[in-house]
Amino acid sequence: MDDKLDVLIIGSGPAGLSAAVYAKRAGLNALVIEKEYRGTGQIAESDQVDNYLGLPKINGYDLGEAFLKHAQELGVQFQEGVADIFQKNEDGWTVHFADGQAINTKTVIYCAGAAHRRLGVEGEEEFAGKGVSYCAVCDGAFYRGKETAVIGGGDTALGDALYLSDLCDKVYLIHRREQFRGAASFVQQLREKENVEILTSAVPSKIVGEQTVTALELKDGRSIPVNGAFVAVGMQPQTEPLLGVVDLDEAGYVIADETGITSEPGFFAAGDVRTKALRQVVTAVSDGANAAVSAMEYIRNIFYE
Ligand code: NAP
Repeated sequence: MDDKLDVLIIGSGPAGLSAAVYAKRAGLNALVIEKEYRGTGQIAESDQVDNYLGLPKINGYDLGEAFLKHAQELGVQFQEGVADIFQKNEDGWTVHFADGQAINTKTVIYCAGAAHRRLGVEGEEEFAGKGVSYCAVCDGAFYRGKETAVIGGGDTALGDALYLSDLCDKVYLIHRREQFRGAASFVQQLREKENVEILTSAVPSKIVGEQTVTALELKDGRSIPVNGAFVAVGMQPQTEPLLGVVDLDEAGYVIADETGITSEPGFFAAGDVRTKALRQVVTAVSDGANAAVSAMEYIRNIFYE
């Protein structure tokens, strides 16, 4: 048993890094699997995180880097990889990776987060990377002085529209309902922007173009001339490898409360990937801490008593 890792942490976003810091400080032998070298997850795509206590208006990328630096300074170990098979053994878990490697561990803390949901209209796939983007902070600079549309009504769409309004000549915010899901303060700021036009009850039907995007068509027949379409219609939990491994809800999130305890002993979930009411950096960080403590208690009870 002793050659096994104590905790294998899947994902290096705020939940995974927080779990790593707590595990390391508790003296556990932990390894963080990151999909991208020095990746910090979705947070790196946020221009401004305005609600993380004590750090108002911090840039998401900088906050992610601060989290990473904290974990690195404690000596947390990282390895790049994509975990695709999780097998429960008599005395822990074996995790297999896309490159053929396998790692044995006493516990897993799964913090793989969520990926951008697709809009699902004609032209979206065809123009992906050629006018269709899922990250305003990453790609916004390509649209300086141009016209763009942001599709969605949550905090991501509102934040993206605000960000783009400082770069683009014109930004259309296209939302399928009258009410916005995102923060009223964001909506108010957008209403005050002269170069932002908000279209509600507006449902996209097609993204059109030639080499790159030229327009967004709506179901009511309108055609909005744009150079870029930023899709911000929510997230999809990254739980495909967990089908048949742990219990998931109907939307694919891992069923777990704030302790991170799942249907399978020794397998914990933290951050956006688990069932919860509020998916924010602050709740991801809190989840990571809780899951590490749960893993620590599990190891103590199962392996040392
Ligand atoms: P979200 O809150 O789930 O919002 C998704 C939006 O996309 C909704 O307005 C939804 O419309 C719309 N939508 C979904 N499918 C669509 C489709 N097929 N066609 C057109 N519109 C569609 O997702 P999110 O904005 O990515 O936010 C995810 C979580 O992260 C939230 O909890 C959010 O608060 C949080 N977040 C926080 C910040 C921050 O600054 N603190 C920034 C970003 C995200 P309906 O409203 O009609 O359902």
